[in-house]
Amino acid sequence: MAIKEYHVKPTDRQIKVYIDSEELQEYIVGIKQYLNIQNVETNLLLCKNDNSIGSLATIGTIKDFCETNNIFINSRRIAEKCSVTFELLINEYEVYTQIVKVYVRLALVHELIHVKQIKNGCLTEELVRKESEKTYEDKSYEKEAIHCSKSIIGKSNGFFREVIEYIDGGQVNQEVKEKLLQEYNRI
Ligand SMILES: [Zn+2]
Repeated sequence: MAIKEYHVKPTDRQIKVYIDSEELQEYIVGIKQYLNIQNVETNLLLCKNDNSIGSLATIGTIKDFCETNNIFINSRRIAEKCSVTFELLINEYEVYTQIVKVYVRLALVHELIHVKQIKNGCLTEELVRKESEKTYEDKSYEKEAIHCSKSIIGKSNGFFREVIEYIDGGQVNQEVKEKLLQEYNRI
């Protein structure tokens, strides 16, 4: 499906509002406690140049890991993925807002898991070199981050779990839309 600028722009705005919200700050505090990395300072920032990275979010290099770590969120990239995959739900404003939140949380928690891996010495420059030939999904530290972030966020409710099923570009057709709306009404 093609990217529609008139869908991407408002989604991007929604993401930025959520990133600036008190609600997300509180969420981060809770997740960091859960991951036992509450002592590592993190700053949530927007990517300066939205075309600079292909992924939804990123952290600095392992070498630079310290007491304070920046997590860069690529709002433009998230807005593109979200608006293409969940286009059928864009006019369901409240439901779509929750879907946007799932995307941001997933990207964020994924990076926080990398922070935890680095802090615990499980993700090192040596490991990155060793697995450099593997595809993204096959790298052990990415496998863990992908799996754990989905499982943590899926715990919230059935609607989030359903959204996560399609988040990597699954086909959200009319039938899936109805199922998602049903799950949303159960929250
Ligand atoms: Zn990753």
